[in-house]
Amino acid sequence: MSTTRESVDMRAWTRRAGVEPTVRIGIVLDEDAMNELRLRVPNRVHTLDSDGGSPRRLSPRASLTVRRVGDVLTVRVGEGPETTARVLRVVCASPPPLAPGVGVLVHDVVAGRGFHWQKRIDQTLTGTIELRAGPHGVVLVNELPLEDYLAGVITAEMGGACPADLLKAQCVVARSWLLAMTEPKHRDEPFDRCNDDCCQRYQGTGDLSPAALDATRATRGQVLLAPTGVVLDANYAKSCGGVSETPVAVWGLEKPGISPVVDAPRDAAERRFFPVTEQNLDEYLDGAWVQTTRCYCSPNVVPVDAIGRYLGRVDTTDDYFRWTVRYERRVLEDLLREKIPDARELAELRDIHVRARGVSGRAYAVGLEWQDTRGEMVRSRLDSEYRIRQVLHRKFLYSSAFAVRLEREPAGAIRAITLRGAGWGHGVGMCQIGALGMALCGIDYETICRHYYPKAELATVYP
Ligand SMILES: [Zn+2]
Ligand SMILES: [Zn+2]
Repeated sequence: MSTTRESVDMRAWTRRAGVEPTVRIGIVLDEDAMNELRLRVPNRVHTLDSDGGSPRRLSPRASLTVRRVGDVLTVRVGEGPETTARVLRVVCASPPPLAPGVGVLVHDVVAGRGFHWQKRIDQTLTGTIELRAGPHGVVLVNELPLEDYLAGVITAEMGGACPADLLKAQCVVARSWLLAMTEPKHRDEPFDRCNDDCCQRYQGTGDLSPAALDATRATRGQVLLAPTGVVLDANYAKSCGGVSETPVAVWGLEKPGISPVVDAPRDAAERRFFPVTEQNLDEYLDGAWVQTTRCYCSPNVVPVDAIGRYLGRVDTTDDYFRWTVRYERRVLEDLLREKIPDARELAELRDIHVRARGVSGRAYAVGLEWQDTRGEMVRSRLDSEYRIRQVLHRKFLYSSAFAVRLEREPAGAIRAITLRGAGWGHGVGMCQIGALGMALCGIDYETICRHYYPKAELATVYP
């Protein structure tokens, strides 16, 4: 037995382990239905382990062709003979330090799975590569230290021009979320997380940004702890709109360590909007204060055109701090018929109103009334933040923190519905645009973390 502390798989990791866990990331999934994969090892000695025989030494720059044949794999090294195995592992004998482009090259990996722009790209992967035969294709799992994975995630999720303290705050939050591991989406698969938006986007080492690497190293092992002492499942969202939300209002869940905050300096007058209520909602959404606010996620602190530049992955340059969506009644009726199974017989929408809000003004219950095709009045209810955003927009409404304004005909029928809203996303935990605003104001990442998670504690859980 070795006396050094072994690495622990992320699924088995606890704070007591005191070591950096290993994560297993699904890179090529069964659903990608790839029956053949081509790999090339870099200019270093690797070994090929298979369950069917003793490890083989792979010479530098060796190429491998792996095929699925029924429930087994065949592998050919260079032009050599084909051999068969159930599980193959490509292991680097002496891994180099993490740097852009290091690792084994895998050809034609799916990126943007399920999106209209889905494409195949070549990726380089560090750590160990494990291959298995799935029912529909070869499955490739990349096993690597959590910190190396995190550097890749931060690269993919954040724009390269981000202020360093925003990157560091995002590292602490993403690391906490990973280690808390409360969302086992791939419980029955041979990996912890996939490489795409379903979990977090990870595209290997090819595009690793030096800034993301620096931020990961500077915060190594640092997480947020809940008051109970466990690693906090640290949620975050794009823009809170001025006040962040409770997990109870959004998911019906208590999460010790996540509490709502006003996203402005301590002495700011914006505190008067905590909580946002039916009484102060109009002033919160449209008061003159919005023009001069020091809210960290407001356009006064983060200019709208800066969001895309810093955060990346933002398709538009809209102002998400305050937004307006307006529907002619018939357009909203079409949406309701399409999205609510019970509304197929809807003839005329008569009323729509918010029935319950969280502290950020986010609605979690919306009441609807309509007359159906037989002339009966029907009452219905959208009863979660998610469902409200899903139903009240062709794609997905920016947030559920909105006021409803109905324009009526003289006879009383609704002519149009305006939703005037604040923020983008569920609003629980760190506000990413606000964290960007704080970093642009010169505030350090530890202060940023304490601002968004005032009931959590920063701690280092492995060296
Ligand atoms: Zn996933
Ligand atoms: Zn905010």
